[in-house]
Amino acid sequence: AFDVLVVGGGPAGSAAAIYAARKGIRTGVAAERFGGQVLDTLSIENFISVNHTEGPKLANALENHVRDYDVDIMNLQRATKLIPASEPGGLVEVELENGASLKSRAVVLSTGARWRQMNVPGENEYRNKGVAYCPHCDGPLFKGKRVAVIGGGNSGVEAAIDLAGIVAHVTLIEFDSKLRADEVLQRKLRSLPNVDIITSACTTQVLGDGQRVTGLSYRDRGDDSQHELQLEGIFVQIGLLPNTEWLKGTVALSPRGEIVIDERGQTSVPGVFAAGDCTTVPYKQIVIAMGAGSTAALSAFDYLIRTSSP
Ligand code: FAD
Repeated sequence: AFDVLVVGGGPAGSAAAIYAARKGIRTGVAAERFGGQVLDTLSIENFISVNHTEGPKLANALENHVRDYDVDIMNLQRATKLIPASEPGGLVEVELENGASLKSRAVVLSTGARWRQMNVPGENEYRNKGVAYCPHCDGPLFKGKRVAVIGGGNSGVEAAIDLAGIVAHVTLIEFDSKLRADEVLQRKLRSLPNVDIITSACTTQVLGDGQRVTGLSYRDRGDDSQHELQLEGIFVQIGLLPNTEWLKGTVALSPRGEIVIDERGQTSVPGVFAAGDCTTVPYKQIVIAMGAGSTAALSAFDYLIRTSSP
């Protein structure tokens, strides 16, 4: 059995594994895809102290750093079930898709999240070539250009307000007949001179020239007419889905499916901690996930020294 088992091998899981292993305790990492979302990222410019790096390069560095320690890395392993310890300090069990089961006195959940996609032609083809999901990450790449934000909930409207200060023009596109964001955000958005809002619009295609995005087409849901917009960037803001489906009913989740944690990374289950994009942490970023992973591992260690195995 492990002392600390980390489930997920992104920035949060890597940090948790390193912090745990540095305490000299038996540490394992089970990850469906070591590297996580970083693997899908092209350029990273806000990983503090590193002016510029690329996703696959950072993912490689994460794995190398973890391999520097005595950590049992189980890559390409998907967790499907968590069984809490039957008594305080006992073993928590994590079942894998391949039928195996791992036991550990403490567990750090760091399964991350995935951006909800529009699922329209061109979206995947132009991902990282104009189609973006994170305004904090990619906003500055569109300085002086025209962009669309898809989604009129809080995250879409916040993204549009944020981007309006950087880019030349923002078109916010909402499927519904009205925006769903908080009134105060809507008021702020409507006060901006370089923002258009289009409601009752269903995005139907991402247009491009083979290299980059050149626009999008949408259907007006009122009269079924088709329209095209010319622009250089599309920020999709229709939801971030935490990879926590397998924890439903075992660990307390927020209405959005995020693992509820306190400031130490403790979940509702004793001995089970969580970190990064799969949790209720307010902002989803690499440096934030790494800090949270470190916090969760230190909390797990604290838990271990305060409980004895039965
Ligand atoms: P993730 O990176 O999502 O890692 C989750 C890990 O858990 C993966 O190893 C995954 O395979 C594994 N996993 C999931 N489910 C299971 C399961 N059931 N069993 C076992 N393993 C599982 N942030 C920045 O700070 N700067 C940027 O420039 C930036 N750009 C981005 C660009 C793109 C295109 C995307 C998608 C994200 C970007 N982000 C950026 C966000 C950043 O990547 C995330 O905040 C960060 O990766 C979160 O780390 P994490 O460890 O919490 O989760």
